[in-house]
Amino acid sequence: MIDAAVEELRTAGLAGVRRDAALADLTTLRVGGPARLLVTAERDADLAAIGRVAARHGLPWVVVGRGSNLLVADEGWPGIAIVLGRGFRGIEVDDTAARGRVRAGAAEPLPTLAVRVADAGFTGFAWACAVPGTLGGAVRMNAGAHGGDMASALVEVDLVRLRTGVRETWVPEALGFAYRRSQLPEDAVVVSGTLELDRGDPAEVRAEMDAIRTWRRTHQPLNHPNCGSVFTNPPGDHAGRLIDAAGCKGLTIGGAAVSERHANFIVTRPGATAADVVAVIEEVQRRVRDASGVELTAEVVRLSPAPVAP
Ligand SMILES: Cc1cc2nc3c(=O)[nH]c(=O)nc-3n(C[C@H](O)[C@H](O)[C@H](O)COP(=O)(O)OP(=O)(O)OC[C@H]3O[C@@H](n4cnc5c(N)ncnc54)[C@H](O)[C@@H]3O)c2cc1C
Repeated sequence: MIDAAVEELRTAGLAGVRRDAALADLTTLRVGGPARLLVTAERDADLAAIGRVAARHGLPWVVVGRGSNLLVADEGWPGIAIVLGRGFRGIEVDDTAARGRVRAGAAEPLPTLAVRVADAGFTGFAWACAVPGTLGGAVRMNAGAHGGDMASALVEVDLVRLRTGVRETWVPEALGFAYRRSQLPEDAVVVSGTLELDRGDPAEVRAEMDAIRTWRRTHQPLNHPNCGSVFTNPPGDHAGRLIDAAGCKGLTIGGAAVSERHANFIVTRPGATAADVVAVIEEVQRRVRDASGVELTAEVVRLSPAPVAP
């Protein structure tokens, strides 16, 4: 069955189809098992072919962006992991109207996009300069920081639906954005997004970005593999404060530990497993529940082998 799926993908023109490909290296946490198939899509037709092959062979699929919010299970992913290639990069700036429009491919890294937006003379996107995801992953997660988020910057999102292979343009109001989540259709692959931003002074925006990067280097454990904030902040409080108050800083299970620098970060060391990270997550949830009665919700997306119908 898998041989036939590989053959069909190659016949459809997908060059880089790999079997049993390590996913840990594609994530910032650096844990987890392989994907049965890893494919790089360069154009809409590739995504359409992946959708057809996945449906025909009953293979679940998932899009992997920068893997900066992904916890891949040790068992790996039993279907197709899709990476968007260079064909889904590119940034176009339109500064002819009062507010600027910046359209970018979904594989574009947010820090690159933030710098380009600043250089083009627009403000309101500096927050993204230190969020290491891709635009596609940021749309899915409604990434945000320092008072900004994707929902407030986007005016249009292009999706390719894997069930039909068709590209659709959606307005943000239809995407169900909320704090660190969206309600994209389950077969939607984000292929591009358009931001609308106010004009600003590039030097001021660059200074703002420098301050953000410095703050992060000081307050976040950026020298160890991590996935950013592991838990969403509960209403009116900070997950990091609650985790610290529950005495979890430094809590270590196997190769995973709650960071001493920022309690809402879990860091891994070489040899760590996804099970170690899950055990730390569950122990933190238990201790915070006991200490404060608050149920912490994970922000990190867990990719587990449970079959999902394509
Ligand atoms: C050091 C560090 C700091 C961070 N700081 C922040 C922060 O300040 N604010 C914040 O919000 N997040 C932060 N994060 C988390 C992460 O960077 C964001 O959630 C980011 O948006 C994830 O993008 P990604 O490309 O890495 O997505 P992935 O981690 O690869 O995927 C996340 C989810 O998006 C889906 N997805 C990815 N690409 C697409 C696509 N093209 N179409 C449809 N679905 C897709 C995946 O299937 C998965 O469900 C941080 C992470 C790290 C490591």
